[in-house]
Amino acid sequence: MTHGDGTRDEGGRTGRSAVPPGRHAVVVGGGLAGVTAALTLADAGVRVTLLEGRPRLGGLAFSFRRGELTVDNGQHVYLRCCTAYRWFLDRVGGAHLAPLQERLDVPVVDLDRPEGRRLGRLRRDALPVPLHLGRSLATYPHLSLADRARVGRAALALKGLDPADPALDARNFGAWLTAHGQSARAVEALWDLVGVATLNATAGDSSLALAAMVFRTGLLSEPGAADIGWASVPLGELHDRLAREALDAVGARLRLRARVTSVTRAADGGWDVGLPGESLHADAVVLAVPQREAHGLLPDGALDDPGRLLEIGTAPILNIHVVYDRRVLTVPFLTTLGGPVQWLFDRTAASGLREGQYLALSQSTAQDEIDTPVAALRARYLPELERLLPRARGARVEDFFVTREREATFAPAPGVGRLRPGPRTKAPGLCLAGAWTATGWPATMESAVRSGVGAAGAALAALGRSRAMLPDFLGEAA
Ligand SMILES: Cc1cc2nc3c(=O)[nH]c(=O)nc-3n(C[C@H](O)[C@H](O)[C@H](O)COP(=O)(O)OP(=O)(O)OC[C@H]3O[C@@H](n4cnc5c(N)ncnc54)[C@H](O)[C@@H]3O)c2cc1C
Repeated sequence: MTHGDGTRDEGGRTGRSAVPPGRHAVVVGGGLAGVTAALTLADAGVRVTLLEGRPRLGGLAFSFRRGELTVDNGQHVYLRCCTAYRWFLDRVGGAHLAPLQERLDVPVVDLDRPEGRRLGRLRRDALPVPLHLGRSLATYPHLSLADRARVGRAALALKGLDPADPALDARNFGAWLTAHGQSARAVEALWDLVGVATLNATAGDSSLALAAMVFRTGLLSEPGAADIGWASVPLGELHDRLAREALDAVGARLRLRARVTSVTRAADGGWDVGLPGESLHADAVVLAVPQREAHGLLPDGALDDPGRLLEIGTAPILNIHVVYDRRVLTVPFLTTLGGPVQWLFDRTAASGLREGQYLALSQSTAQDEIDTPVAALRARYLPELERLLPRARGARVEDFFVTREREATFAPAPGVGRLRPGPRTKAPGLCLAGAWTATGWPATMESAVRSGVGAAGAALAALGRSRAMLPDFLGEAA
């Protein structure tokens, strides 16, 4: 609710009139990190301009039209433990449009069994940690009894690790699993099943620190931490339309198709943000762009070793979209073993499709297939879907297309932690945000939102403003 004097009282969060707007912050980049930074600064009473190079907000998590369908560039999920992204959903008024499962329940189909297909489930009970997963693990059919016991022991060992310990950053998660008695099958059927989807890397390519963060927070913190949520509407509804409305409601100025070409020190100690043919003056700047763009825009001296940004690798995600003339999948989503299909989601209702069924296959760690022609992907995946879904046999394929994100995430390789800078730079008032910055999280929506709040906090400090109204999920890190 907005009062005539400019104060808002949604949950007592904002009191803009308490701090007269005067100083100006420019946020560059309208992905989740930049939108979050802009909202947070505006909530704190700062005059904000958000500049986004594309004609829409949402960055790497967006939607587009294809005939009657509204398609997401990639299926996105989050977990109940993603407190920052859940704050974002609340903040833009979209929480009800991306509901969480009541209780973790992941169907896992193994296609490679002598008897054909076999369904297992990863679920939780209403018991305290770690017992909440005990029954599910004890009955998980895709692991031998011995493997199940060893998985339990490794999980407890993981719980004893501190993901913030810098020594863990350089260590390899795959090697750690082997040292803790995990068989190749346990890695495939459990650790990579979860890890590939959340880290966008196999265990052998992942930093132990990031893996420990994911597994400890998701599976070993609160019983409901790993309950899964996903958008029941196109992502653009949340990250673009509702985000624009929220920015507008708090008085933040948004400019789309505004590609920033330079950020230079102004004579008065502030910043000149260059756009083609013009320049905006700012007292503080948040650069919420991918690491390569940040490297190109940062002025000399802003980071001790800016070359490190270019050492952060990236990893692709491929989404394969199939529209059938009838319903072939009877659950909202599932994941598979023993074939190339990773996670499969029913996007029919969200896309606006009125007849038939629209499935999205989310294929992480897609290095081998990111450039494969559509025809070859079609020849490979349609038979796989028939193997997985008996109802697909004989169903007509109305549409088949792919979306390729070559730089979907940063690569969570061992050692990446030391390359990720925090929100503050050495240039006063110039701050960094982005899922790739040092949030402790892998490249996720959660990391992006956390980074946006962290950068807003750093910018507020530089502006001499109170950080009292920052959302509190960052604790001291803000
Ligand atoms: C296919 C796919 C699937 C994914 N699945 C999941 C998932 O299931 N769960 C999850 O949590 N995360 C997932 N992610 C990761 C998640 O989408 C990202 O981590 C997050 O959206 C990154 O947000 P960001 O704001 O840090 O960066 P970005 O989204 O990259 O935003 C940066 C913005 O800066 C703009 N920009 C760049 N240069 C300039 C410039 N010079 N001037 C102005 N603007 C500029 C860009 O146009 C862009 O909008 C997935 C990503 C992809 C691609």
